[in-house]
Amino acid sequence: METSSFNAAAEALVETGRRFDARGWVPASSGNFSIRLSDERLAITASGRHKGELTAADILTVDMHGKVQEGDLRPSYETGLHTRLYRRIPQLGAVLHTHSVACTVISRQAGHNIELRDYELSKIFEGIDSHEVTLRIPVYENDQDIEALAAMIDARMERDGPGQAYLIRGHGLYTWAGDIRTARYRVEALEFMLECELHTK
Ligand SMILES: [Zn+2]
Repeated sequence: METSSFNAAAEALVETGRRFDARGWVPASSGNFSIRLSDERLAITASGRHKGELTAADILTVDMHGKVQEGDLRPSYETGLHTRLYRRIPQLGAVLHTHSVACTVISRQAGHNIELRDYELSKIFEGIDSHEVTLRIPVYENDQDIEALAAMIDARMERDGPGQAYLIRGHGLYTWAGDIRTARYRVEALEFMLECELHTK
């Protein structure tokens, strides 16, 4: 069943790129975004594009194993991280990935987790209704072998539950939600909290 039209998804991904570029979260050709179209397909940003300059022509569709469905664009290098998340979390609607200064610096200095304590914005995450909380975000080691990285992260999720975000050390942030608007809120909330942590240091 098609849950979201390609055109609407492409428009939302283009808009997300503009917003995140304006915040400095997707320098050069970094970052990648996707939206679930159906049980079998997702729309994702093409490899090597500047996210602030995207058009609908830079968005393509792949299946849940990253195989291109139509067109001759190459999907994002990190497509395997997206497809693993959609396969693991059936209700997932969108996945967003940013490369900000705060994510990069904070994840380099962290251990296996980052603990974000007592932030009002934590409430944007599911199951949290008070600022009196510690949000624990896993930090995984970076790896250019995306399939190996995706499999390692998936194994951790199998053990610990999927959570709602993770960081890749010295690289960036992944977060997700049932729809792209909520996923964007989560990026904004996490980037805000990580920037606060950076200023505190
Ligand atoms: Zn990346």
